[in-house]
Amino acid sequence: MKKVVLPVAHPLLDEARDKLDRMVALLEEDQALRHAEYDKPDPKRRRLRVACNRCETPWCCNQRVAVEFVEALVIYRWAAEHEPLALAAAIARGDSLRRGRPLDDAEFFRRRVPCPFLIKGRCTIFPMRPHSCRSHYMGGNPLKCRDELQPNETYEMSPDRALIAEIAALADDVKFDLLIEGARPTELAELMLFVDRLLARKKTWAAPRVLDWDLAPGEE
Ligand code: SF4
Ligand code: SF4
Repeated sequence: MKKVVLPVAHPLLDEARDKLDRMVALLEEDQALRHAEYDKPDPKRRRLRVACNRCETPWCCNQRVAVEFVEALVIYRWAAEHEPLALAAAIARGDSLRRGRPLDDAEFFRRRVPCPFLIKGRCTIFPMRPHSCRSHYMGGNPLKCRDELQPNETYEMSPDRALIAEIAALADDVKFDLLIEGARPTELAELMLFVDRLLARKKTWAAPRVLDWDLAPGEE
């Protein structure tokens, strides 16, 4: 398995360092609010029942996880420092996914393909997990998460919409600064592989790019 070299240094990360750091701070603030609002809510206040708090089997982590490119940068950087083995495994997973036939969302779900960062039932990148993971809550029976790709009792919830808007604006800023208009792939493991390949390149690019596999070494 490829070892991730620390510290991760590259123009992509260096140019966006302050904004990526700010993103991490906002995600930590968001997480603290989530904890207070949804994980340990004041029982006197009426709110949606959050089944996730008593869920012992995270079925929701066994499906396709799509992320924005900027999220991928933050996750890669954080995992390289805090969970290098999990990151290396995710990169290897991305490589094997990349070599196989492309799977759609339904196939990921049907095959119960686990998220690359789910290890022994635990999210190894919990503080930096993607927005789709942090804002996804189940209000009904958790077994529905096992049986249905999109149970109708699942909700997207965020404790502070202004904070989420700031995170989204910052993500746009980072893309603007780095001349990124969009990125394919979008699946988490494949993006870890893709970011890893980008960081192995010595330079970035001079004009706005839709990042695609064609930028990866050996495929230019
Ligand atoms: S979304 Fe469903 S499977 Fe995921 S933690 Fe919540 S209850 Fe469990
Ligand atoms: S990043 Fe974490 S929370 Fe999201 S799917 Fe993966 S293991 Fe689950």
